[in-house]
Amino acid sequence: MEGYKPFGIPMRELGSVVLLFEEFEAIRLSDYENLTQEEAAEKMNISRPTFTRIYDKARKSVAKAFVEGKAIIIQGGTYITEDYWYKCQDCHETITAIKPITQCRKCDSEKITPLNKKNPAIF
Ligand SMILES: [Zn+2]
Repeated sequence: MEGYKPFGIPMRELGSVVLLFEEFEAIRLSDYENLTQEEAAEKMNISRPTFTRIYDKARKSVAKAFVEGKAIIIQGGTYITEDYWYKCQDCHETITAIKPITQCRKCDSEKITPLNKKNPAIF
């Protein structure tokens, strides 16, 4: 998944908003996994105020895309550069690690894709 596009609007007429990977992650942890902002910030290894800033920006971007019928493009971000981020190809878990890893923590699959800016592959 690299993003979303609204149904029924030709691509050439379509505007887009960019959602950074950490913004996507903030929404995922907070709204999808129902973590508190403290827990989510801890999971992302960032401070609570930084989390709140990322999360607020993420929600504004998503709201704008929904209301204005724009595509959402998910891109690698800039806030978090020291951690290693991966996406498991098998169970689709997003994994953050302090050191490089070779296996998914959840399903032990070795089919994991790095998401860091060193490797600009977006999931
Ligand atoms: Zn997995």
